[in-house]
Amino acid sequence: MRFRIRTLGCKVNLYESEAISYGLKKKSWIEDEEKPDVQILNTCTVTSTSDAKDRKMIRQMISEAPDAIMVVMGCYSQLQPEEVAKIKGVNIVIGTKYKAKIYDLVQEYLEDEKQIIKVADSAKFNCFEELQLKSLSFHTRGFVKIQDGCNNFCSYCAVPYARGPIKSRNPEAVVKEIQFLVSEGVKEVILSGINTGTYGQDLGNITLASLIEKIMVEVPDLYRIRLSSIELMEISDELLETIKKYQTRIAKHLHIPLQAGCDSTLERMGRKYNMEQYYARIEYIRSLFPGIAITTDCLAGFVGETADEFNVTYKNLKTIGFAGVHVFPYSRRGGTKADSMDGHLAPSIIKTRANALCVLAKELKIQYMKKYLGQTLEVLFEQEKDGYWYGHTSNYLSVKVKETDADLTNQIKQIKLININGVDIIGKE
Ligand code: SF4
Repeated sequence: MRFRIRTLGCKVNLYESEAISYGLKKKSWIEDEEKPDVQILNTCTVTSTSDAKDRKMIRQMISEAPDAIMVVMGCYSQLQPEEVAKIKGVNIVIGTKYKAKIYDLVQEYLEDEKQIIKVADSAKFNCFEELQLKSLSFHTRGFVKIQDGCNNFCSYCAVPYARGPIKSRNPEAVVKEIQFLVSEGVKEVILSGINTGTYGQDLGNITLASLIEKIMVEVPDLYRIRLSSIELMEISDELLETIKKYQTRIAKHLHIPLQAGCDSTLERMGRKYNMEQYYARIEYIRSLFPGIAITTDCLAGFVGETADEFNVTYKNLKTIGFAGVHVFPYSRRGGTKADSMDGHLAPSIIKTRANALCVLAKELKIQYMKKYLGQTLEVLFEQEKDGYWYGHTSNYLSVKVKETDADLTNQIKQIKLININGVDIIGKE
């Protein structure tokens, strides 16, 4: 069988698609972008725009390869299986479970060519679905999924409904995968999950900190670990001590979602901290790791957000001085608590506020980058594009140097940071 797989959404989805692709190849299927017999779309449902993109991509894939068996999986099909099944040409619908069963489901479909919808109740997904990754499209930086699901039920978020409760991957499987990636030349692994900081809470005898300790000891050749997003309440003292202990091998970067910089908005969002707690923790982290890049997510135009609340959020983002802010305009998700709240804002207000936050995010990023001009930092190079080699520093500055004859992919170089060019820093060896 020839197959192709496309992915929308987050890094966890990318990782899963990569692992599915590896599993299918192990069964002697061949990846073929042009003439697939089976095509798979891994969907996302984080905003209503994502849902629209999913539907568009499903239709596009079917029109490109109308004879191929169309499999739709992921968060959108988990929450809206009927909607997906109704699209003409969709043959198999799974959700966020049964990803390791695509091969079997295709065989089942081939028997009588009847549409299959196999979507389990996400509330009952208590076990981490093991998908082994042993192929390498990520090259220098390898995403390693260590956790799935979330129990937080923030009022705006559909993810806990799509992914179910927290579940952690067996630590031995994590280490084995990282050992493989390192043996293939990967220098940096990004420990990823839906709520990564909860790693181990369902296993009982391990935490994110002890997993990192285990990786550091059992994969001594690993150059660097980077943590994907981590919730404020999951940054334990134990975790910070471990980061300190291995600070030369752990990226000087934490992405700590704030979502709103105003207590009343945070309360309506169902977030589990207030601004006083957020400030205190950031201050402590900065005292331990001076210069650390702290990046965040912020939702613009949440239900009931007054102009005053927005201004408080804006000011706090500025005062905290994030190294980067991902801004998301609030998007209504059916079935969430926020969906049934009063006070939804007009799309034009949401858009104006999101735009203002994006402008601020850019200013803050430049402010952070400026601090490093003139310094020489280690850069791990990833790819060549438009006459430049691009890479990242430990504190996640994107650095580019003029192309040379040498292939810098996966090379670590000391680079002097010269000046800012858009969202990158131009550097020189
Ligand atoms: S922590 Fe909140 S925003 Fe993040 S996945 Fe869980 S419910 Fe969604």
